[in-house]
Amino acid sequence: MPTSKFHAMIHSKCPRCHVGKVFEGKVYSLRKQQMNDVCPHCGVKYEVEPGYFYAAMYVSYALSVAEIVSVSVAIAILTGSESPWFYLAGLAVTILIFAPFNFRYARLILLHFLTPKISYDPRYELALEIGEKDQESKGNKMN
Ligand SMILES: [Zn+2]
Repeated sequence: MPTSKFHAMIHSKCPRCHVGKVFEGKVYSLRKQQMNDVCPHCGVKYEVEPGYFYAAMYVSYALSVAEIVSVSVAIAILTGSESPWFYLAGLAVTILIFAPFNFRYARLILLHFLTPKISYDPRYELALEIGEKDQESKGNKMN
């Protein structure tokens, strides 16, 4: 069964096959985020043209604004404080905490929703499912 675009994006899967990983490892870890140049499953090149991921900065900016506005409203509602230092400290912490998340999901949103050159092809997923069923049936015959 084909997975949805949103599901594939959340799980950091390739925009074309929804099987291969775009990023290796977790969002939050001590190691630097490792992005694959090409999909390990279908072989699509993620950087469709040189400097393509500069466009992810705009997506990252939009994500940052949404997070900052949300945290500011939360601070205002929860504390009722009018001190600008309180908000600045809250926003600095928010930006630092969300930086790895924004880096990864800005690129994933760009690849899944804003890149017309890479579109979903369900044949890769179907081929994988058929391959798995084939191996299961072969395994059953041997037993
Ligand atoms: Zn792929």
